[in-house]
Amino acid sequence: MNVLVISHADVVRLLPMAACIDVMAEALRATSRGEAVLPLRSMVWMPDRTGMIGLMPGYLGQPASLGLKIVSIFPGNHGTAYDSHQGVVMLFDLQHGTPIAIIDASSITAIRTAAVSGAATRALAREDAGDLAILGAGVQAKTHLAAMRAVRAVRRVRVWSRNRATAQRFADASAVPVEVMATPRDAVAGADLICTTTSAREPILEGAWLAPGTHVNAVGACFATARELDSAAVARARLIVDRRESARAESGDFLLARSEGAIGDDHIAGELGEVLLGRLVGRRSADEITLFKSLGIAVEDLAAAHYIYAQALATRSGVSVPLGP
Ligand code: NDP
Repeated sequence: MNVLVISHADVVRLLPMAACIDVMAEALRATSRGEAVLPLRSMVWMPDRTGMIGLMPGYLGQPASLGLKIVSIFPGNHGTAYDSHQGVVMLFDLQHGTPIAIIDASSITAIRTAAVSGAATRALAREDAGDLAILGAGVQAKTHLAAMRAVRAVRRVRVWSRNRATAQRFADASAVPVEVMATPRDAVAGADLICTTTSAREPILEGAWLAPGTHVNAVGACFATARELDSAAVARARLIVDRRESARAESGDFLLARSEGAIGDDHIAGELGEVLLGRLVGRRSADEITLFKSLGIAVEDLAAAHYIYAQALATRSGVSVPLGP
């Protein structure tokens, strides 16, 4: 019995952003139709909290996939040769439960997260949105720029990062002109498309800075105790999440705004999958501020892995390794 090992370089080649946006939209629709089995992820922190390992298992009905992502998060890796997210996504066959693929998780996470924001932006942002602000300048910032350009005619890009040098490197490496801004407030002034992609634990985006009609993809804060948005930003916006159960358990942006009394439980309007299925209206007016809170769920990794595996078989990519008897 062989397992196909698929590398970072292969994933980047086999999972183009535009295709991944459609794959993510379908996976989120299937999840909101109730076709996924998706426990909350388990996380194990090292005692000094410099790093953790997260386990994200799941089953998805469409495309039928069973597997898990195991990913370490070491934020201190940023600026070194190591990605802050490293690990593997494993796929199992559905007939006998045999492991069939082991795929690099850094690349899947980088691409699928931005693709989900792409699907959210396509559904929620104004058609004419194109003044983009990106807060953060790491791995997710880069893939988010690609995702935003895939779904909207982006006419201006501003970036802010805690260290200006990081933002400058991001701008220098970008295929399109990017303006480096001194503060997050300067970056988002007048923007109609905002992506927050930082490892911040305290707010870096304030509600008072948001122009009417803006769409925000809040991507960075993935723990109950971390937030990128202040309470006003969450309260001012129509909030759409990747999954209700995850948002209520894991989203500091939601939970901390709620504990400060700015919003109630009913502030979550619904799931992105429900909007994509046409069961829920996303944006209700041109002036409404829409907010997509992304936590990242296992079905996104499974659907991406399923797609990559099929592409790898079709193009004879990857390395087949004998594993079991
Ligand atoms: P990187 O390590 O590549 O980049 C991190 C970015 O965050 C840098 O711009 C860095 O700025 C900035 N940053 C770090 N600490 C702080 C801080 N305390 N305050 C403000 N900015 C800070 O990370 P990724 O791009 O891979 O991931 C970014 C975030 O997205 C992380 O929080 C990650 O956990 C989350 N994530 C979410 C996913 C989802 O599905 N929703 C999936 C994957 C990641 P500088 O270099 O200037 O210091």
